[in-house]
Amino acid sequence: MSIIDASLTEAQKILQETARRFAREEILPHSHEWEEAGEFPRELYEKAGSIGLLGVGFPEELGGVGGGALEILMSIEGLMEGMTTGVTVGLGSHQIALPPVVEFGSDPLRRRIVDEVLRGEKIAALAITEPGAGSDVAGITTRATRRDDGSYRINGAKTFITSGVRADYLTVLTRTSDDKHGGLTFFVVERDREGLSISKPLKKTGWWSSDTAELGFDDVVVPEENRLGAEGTGFLALMKNFQLERLALAGYGYTTAALALRLARENVEERRAFGRPLKGFQVLRHRLADMATKTLAARVLTFEVARAIDRGESCFEEVAMAKNLTAETAVAVTYDAVQIFGGAGYMRETVVERLSRDARLLPIGGGTQEIMKEIISRQMGLV
Ligand SMILES: Cc1cc2nc3c(=O)[nH]c(=O)nc-3n(C[C@H](O)[C@H](O)[C@H](O)COP(=O)(O)OP(=O)(O)OC[C@H]3O[C@@H](n4cnc5c(N)ncnc54)[C@H](O)[C@@H]3O)c2cc1C
Repeated sequence: MSIIDASLTEAQKILQETARRFAREEILPHSHEWEEAGEFPRELYEKAGSIGLLGVGFPEELGGVGGGALEILMSIEGLMEGMTTGVTVGLGSHQIALPPVVEFGSDPLRRRIVDEVLRGEKIAALAITEPGAGSDVAGITTRATRRDDGSYRINGAKTFITSGVRADYLTVLTRTSDDKHGGLTFFVVERDREGLSISKPLKKTGWWSSDTAELGFDDVVVPEENRLGAEGTGFLALMKNFQLERLALAGYGYTTAALALRLARENVEERRAFGRPLKGFQVLRHRLADMATKTLAARVLTFEVARAIDRGESCFEEVAMAKNLTAETAVAVTYDAVQIFGGAGYMRETVVERLSRDARLLPIGGGTQEIMKEIISRQMGLV
């Protein structure tokens, strides 16, 4: 229990505990096997959906269970007790894919897809990044061209798409005009559309149990109903989406650090060297003290930013700060945890080894550390 847990409401504590129990019963016993296999069973979505875990942050009238940014953090904290970021982000890909559908999609489209994704019957993924444009999101070239009957023809390629291999619905950012920022438009593309090709899972440093895909769009035709909002609203939808995506990544960051800290702490109690437990060495105690301090600071900042989001405040820059602080903390604390485990920390069956690989994505995904610093320095009036 830390100083900020006391401020959680009963409902938030129950949500956190529900997610934690689910992770300990349904994920943790299989996490090593699923990570090594590079996938987790599709049924896990339905199990999570049946107890409302996929509906956190979504409105009840669309099949969600309500809640805001803080509730999303509670569900991440609980699910990460499964000790695999891969499963948590795989289960959570709809958290970044559905908000543009909920906010900008037509009623028939929302009714058709949101509920079944939140029940875990279908999987949704967000496709923005392209082989030629990642940080420079407005540099994307995937083109959607309007046809005479109102439908759209999509051509282009996407890469690094989380859950892209298995997704039934893809929320795809396209270019509908040459206006750099004002020419972007989101569409939903169903996986069985002719002309859509989906790669095998890409091999990665970490997040092994989540699949990551390359997508090809070769004259893929979608009806007008699949367009999210008016043409040209894609950049606005994207910026709104980044807020919760980056907050969630901050959640993965401090949670990864907290798990590594807990495991390292257990190790210094149990492991002995030179006739005493490792905690008998001041240098290791102090390393743990630093790890604990950084982890708490990262969690406190992320909580405060989540509370500000829930109050309706715009905090694009503060989210960027939380994302960077938590990512740096996760990388540093997992590095230290591996060090405290010694040789065992370098072995595949040791959880801190996995956490240290998983942490490396955090300063890259969802907007890199450098892009976050650009956002922060712009707010400081330096750009
Ligand atoms: C495991 C994984 C899962 C992912 N999941 C998804 C997903 O579900 N959907 C999706 O759309 N994308 C996804 N991504 C893509 C991810 O968001 C991008 O990789 C990320 O935004 C960086 O883009 P990039 O890889 O093209 O790097 P680049 O943009 O090519 O950047 C390369 C380097 O240049 C730096 N750089 C670029 N521009 C600037 C600048 N202006 N100032 C200073 N430095 C700069 C970057 O910080 C970085 O260090 C995923 C990536 C990975 C690895």
